[in-house]
This record gives sequence, structure tokens and C-alpha cells, in this order.
Amino acid sequence: MTIGFIGTGNMGYPMVRNLVKAGNKVTAFDRLQSALQSAAAAGGAMASSQKEVVMDAEIVITMLPAGQHVRTVYGSDDGVIATASNGTLLIDCSTIDVESARAVAKEAAARGLDMLDAPVSGGVAGAEAGTLTFMVGGSAEVLERARPVLEAMGKNIVHAGDSGSGQAAKLCNNMMLGISMIGTSEAFTMGQKLGLNPQTLFDIISTASGSCWALQNHLPIPGIVETAASNRGFRAGFAVAMMAKDLRLAQLAAKSVDASTPLGSTAAALYTSFEDSGNQDLDYSAIIKLIAAQT
Ligand code: NAD
Repeated sequence: MTIGFIGTGNMGYPMVRNLVKAGNKVTAFDRLQSALQSAAAAGGAMASSQKEVVMDAEIVITMLPAGQHVRTVYGSDDGVIATASNGTLLIDCSTIDVESARAVAKEAAARGLDMLDAPVSGGVAGAEAGTLTFMVGGSAEVLERARPVLEAMGKNIVHAGDSGSGQAAKLCNNMMLGISMIGTSEAFTMGQKLGLNPQTLFDIISTASGSCWALQNHLPIPGIVETAASNRGFRAGFAVAMMAKDLRLAQLAAKSVDASTPLGSTAAALYTSFEDSGNQDLDYSAIIKLIAAQT
């Protein structure tokens, strides 16, 4: 397959590597030169413009920060929708608001182009290992067309429903992740204050009913879990800014359907406050610093 890939940041460039490994011809574009160079190191060809990426692509994949970037990249006058050839399949893997996902897919459909929202779970480690979970919104037939390409980057490909449903599922997931990372941080901060050894506490909780994915994979205490950002000074990983964004999106989504999310709302407030104090680029597990600083 000839694939155009736009947005080769923390997640995008390892995804490019796996697409290349699976035998696809990938051309990449990022507005940041350093990100583009990472994509080239991963085996992609570097394009000097977005248009160049889209021109010959059978499939365009995007991995961008937020809804406004997705709307610009797809919707502007020289955007993906206006410049893609007929029959090009569009897959947005970014985590964005449900409304933007639906609006962009509708614009694509008006030009006769198929589009999926396919946000991912599994983080940078999952992107590197090709074990991401894709939560896919759009038609089931279009998903079958996309499946071989998604399987080059992920292990679980789940059809969530119509356009925007992938994003809805992702926001539910990340709301739980934010809440459970705060819970993990609270338990380990309290445990240490109560005189427990963190390794002992981990050995107990990781095999007990309090265990969760955040604890198992991203423990905010260094030296215990190999994949944790706490081992490398909380270098992201999944940045605080991204988690705060997702939690705010989850609150917007909750309000739009009158869902009560008291813990989701508290998690959004804590991450936003941590982000606003200059910690936006740290890994989201660094929230333990905010918890530990509170008395
Ligand atoms: P990132 O900031 O590292 O990468 C995004 C890239 O998009 C950047 O390199 C940026 O330069 C590029 N970009 C922005 N606007 C552009 C434009 N107009 N044209 C070309 N390039 C443009 O972010 P990331 O961590 O890779 O995350 C990407 C998406 O994946 C986000 O929506 C995030 O919420 C989601 N996500 C991230 C993780 C994670 O662990 N990092 C996990 C799951 C989902």
C-alpha cells in the first residue's frame, strides 16, 4: 500500500516504522523538522508539504495533537479532503473531540471519500511494539478495508460504531486512565507516608484487587516497572498536556449527554492545574508530584 502519514510525533513515528516493516511505502509529513526526521529514521520518505503526502496515497493516516489540527489538516482549502485522489481512504488516529471527528468525516463523505476515526490506546510503548488497540468509528465495511493497515500497527482492532464512536470510546478510556493514575499516585504517596516500601506495596497491589493498567505499566515510582516514565525523570510518554486535553474533552462529551462524572471532573481539574504550573511536557504519571506536594 502507498500510505501518506501526517503527524510523526511521539506516537506517529513508531507507527510509521511498523507500517514500513509490514511492506508499505510510507511518505511522511510533519510541520516540525525534528519529528519529520524521526519518521525518516523509521524508514519513511520525507515530504516537504502535506499536499505531497496526499497526492499519491491510497491511504492517508493522521496522528495529530487535537481537534483544531485535524480540522485544519483535513478541511482547509489545500487540506487532505480537497487534495486526495478519488478512492483514498482517510484514517484519523488522533484523540479529538467527538464533534470534530463527525464534522470532518461528514466533509469527507460529501467529497465521496471514506473516513474512519481510529484513536489508539497503548501509548508510545504500544506504538513501538505494534500492539496498539484501535477503537474505530465509521462503517464496518470501510473498517475491513483498513484492517490490514491497522493490523500492522496494532493488536486489537475494535469497531465501536458509527463516525465519532471511536473517539467516544477513547474519551471513556482516558477518563478512566486519568482517574486511575491519580488513584495510584494517592495510594503510593499515602503508602510511603505510612512506612510501606514501594516495591512491597507494588508486589501486593499488582496481584490484588486494587491493580490497574496505570499501576502495571506506568507506576509513578521509579525502579519497579520497566516501562514507566518515572524511571527516566518523567520524560513523556504520554504528556500531561495530552491527558489534560483528553480529560477536558471527556467533560465536554459528558456535558453533551448529561452524564454525571464527578471523578472525571476532579481528574480534569487536577491535570489542568498541574499543566498550568509548567508541567505540560512531563509524562502524565508525574501527577504524583502534585499529589505528594499537597498536605
Ligand atoms: P505529539 O505532539 O508528539 O505529535 C503530534 C505531531 O503532530 C507533532 O509532531 C506536530 O508537529 C504535528 N502536527 C501538528 N499540526 C500539524 C500540521 N498542521 N501539519 C503537520 N504536522 C502537524 O503528540 P503524540 O503524543 O504523538 O500524540 C498524537 C495524538 O495521539 C494525540 O491526539 C494524543 O492524544 C494521542 N495519543 C497519544 C498517546 C501517547 O502516549 N503519546 C497515546 C494515545 C493517544
